[in-house]
Amino acid sequence: MYLPRMRLIQLFRAATLLAALALLAAVPATMPAQGTRAAAKPADPSPPWMDRTLSPDQRADLVLAQMTQDEKLQLVHGIGWGVLRAGARVPPEDIGGAGFVPGIKRLGIPDLNLADSAVGVRMAALHGRYATLLPSTLGAAASWDTNAAYLYGSVMGRELRAQGYNMSIGGGVDLAREPRNGRNFEYAGEDPLLAGRMTGNLEKGLQAQQVMGDIKHYAFNDQETGRNILNVVLDEKAMRESDLLAFEIAIAIAQPAGVMCGYNKTNGDWDCENDYLLNQVLKHDFAFKGFVLSDWEGTHSTVKAALAGLDQEQPGAPYFSDALRKAIADGQVPQARLDDMVHRVLRSMFAAGVIDHPPVPSVPDPFQGRDDAQHIAEESIVLLKNSSAVLPLSPSVRSIALIGSHADVGVLSGGGSAQVDAPGGDAADPNHGGTQWQKPVYFPSSPLKSIQAKAPRAKLTYNDGADPTAAATSAKGAEIAIVFVNQYMSEGRDAATSSLPDDQDAMVSAVAAANPRTIVVLETGGPVTMPWHDSAQAILEAWYPGIGGAQALAALLFGDVNPSGKLPITFAASDADLPHPQVIGLNTQPRNTSGTPDGGNGARRPPVSFDVNYTEGARVGYKWFDSEKKQPLFPFGFGLSYTTFAYSALKTDAATQSVSFTVRNTGQRAGDEIAEVYVELPATAGENFKRLAGWQRIPLAPGESRSVTIKLDPLTMSVFDTAKDGWTMPHGSFRILVGPSSRDTPLAATMAE
Ligand code: BGC
Repeated sequence: MYLPRMRLIQLFRAATLLAALALLAAVPATMPAQGTRAAAKPADPSPPWMDRTLSPDQRADLVLAQMTQDEKLQLVHGIGWGVLRAGARVPPEDIGGAGFVPGIKRLGIPDLNLADSAVGVRMAALHGRYATLLPSTLGAAASWDTNAAYLYGSVMGRELRAQGYNMSIGGGVDLAREPRNGRNFEYAGEDPLLAGRMTGNLEKGLQAQQVMGDIKHYAFNDQETGRNILNVVLDEKAMRESDLLAFEIAIAIAQPAGVMCGYNKTNGDWDCENDYLLNQVLKHDFAFKGFVLSDWEGTHSTVKAALAGLDQEQPGAPYFSDALRKAIADGQVPQARLDDMVHRVLRSMFAAGVIDHPPVPSVPDPFQGRDDAQHIAEESIVLLKNSSAVLPLSPSVRSIALIGSHADVGVLSGGGSAQVDAPGGDAADPNHGGTQWQKPVYFPSSPLKSIQAKAPRAKLTYNDGADPTAAATSAKGAEIAIVFVNQYMSEGRDAATSSLPDDQDAMVSAVAAANPRTIVVLETGGPVTMPWHDSAQAILEAWYPGIGGAQALAALLFGDVNPSGKLPITFAASDADLPHPQVIGLNTQPRNTSGTPDGGNGARRPPVSFDVNYTEGARVGYKWFDSEKKQPLFPFGFGLSYTTFAYSALKTDAATQSVSFTVRNTGQRAGDEIAEVYVELPATAGENFKRLAGWQRIPLAPGESRSVTIKLDPLTMSVFDTAKDGWTMPHGSFRILVGPSSRDTPLAATMAE
């Protein structure tokens, strides 16, 4: 007898449903639900929710219908600090990440093992595992390459799976509104379109490995000083057109499983109980289908948080376990709200594939990881200055004095919960090599060795740079001096100023005075000031370049790879030019109020909150510098190449909101140009700055020309209209500016809407 496919599926479902019900009848309803590693196998090997033709939402509802109240409550919180805090409970199924939620064994719902993974998988050393350190995400954003971002996420996704994790809690996309923010290296710069696209593609690549992704810290966790107590004050239009726009773009691209709410308050409410941020914007306007998990101890209430849209408390459960059960029983939180929380967790597990394809522990491939990290670093390192074409270096260079930042042994990494464990321990401190909170860790990617490999006959010396006079002496007789300087940054504290710490400015000046052919390599978490920039002949911003960093740097220094990165963040000439010459609260709050709950720095939350008035509003970064007519040291979007490019033939098309133009490689070397398109809104918008509206990375052989068409992002051409609670594109003439940086736009045209 012929039965149509749908009918067959229905019959199958009915049969499996009956079988499942029969089995469930045999199980006491109050059976304690526990997650064990073997838990992945349901009692019924083929319950109806395992029908992959159903949508994640349908599958989640089928599971939900079978769950007891205890089981539901079990999925909406973690079980404690686990490995993060000495003495905390670590069940055997917890594989050593920052968070653990036991699954529901009898229904085949696996445990959630959550790993910090901002720039690589954290805490691998705890179990003797390996994790690739990628370049900082701020660095990767300098590639403006969404394919590189996707690759970045894939590397972390496959290593998370290899280690047995099924959820990442990385994905930082807070805007670099405060350039001294200790976590900017884990974010993606100051522009909402660039940050949103890069982070969105990173999470998309990660989730494609069948690992649940996350985007954080929602929202306005834009500085570490006072992060646990501060209250960000911003008007709605400014919020929607700045940080929230970055989240909106990233979430639309990635459809992440989770969004982590931040520690701070926004306009009076803690982020994790902020109805505006969670219910109204994230879940309604952005149509986010996943679950909101709190930052670690970022939950402050039961009823308010539950009603405002928090779905999962982390890492423990002072508010979302018994207290939530009681609040539901008392009618303060509707049962439907708990069901919605659980539905969101379950549907995200189905959508990401962690139930159909649970991770299978395996050995990560460190070689592939290194190659991928190197590729991303090669696209991320920004050439800021190159006088007299001192770069690229010739392989026949006779002598090089290397100075500073442990360039003999390694490259610097960023700290905090983004810290990845270095293979073999800290390369700069082999005797005390383990990871410690807020202690700089160098990865074994030796610039000295990589440079020597490119110039085998050169005499290389190394000086640690601690003493400017000794550094200058070591540089004096050498044909080339390469000075490495660094700014170590970490979660839990901001830089007090944008100056390089530890008197490194004096050291660079001394070296540059001793050797006219001085090249400076910066390993920084974010922008720094460079009082010596006139005297250095070349400057490269390498960020924290990752485990392939030394190889990438050597490839760029010797011209095997042509630099192509462009700044995702403005470099101010002085802190006085910033919207806030000092980090707000830095001098008025006790130094430790940034409070890193897992940091062991002894911080305790002081009782009093303080306001952080981000008076610049949506004018973050270059928008501030443009509107205030201030000259940055190096502008947003800036970066040099070993070749030159010419722009021509701009055409605009209002109907399709796209622009086309031609870029030609006018030099002698092949190279990629990142062509940037900015818009100035019609006068009615009342703005006095431009906005990045699109870009394209264009590979060009010497002499080659290419015509490109770039569709502008409509949100970057719109204003948020608070009266109508939505985006509106103003009528009138848009000014279109195209060129190699935000301050160099040789092509201009108007486009009428
Ligand atoms: C950080 C989060 C991190 C969590 C777990 C918090 O202190 O702000 O970004 O995911 O700890 O380690």
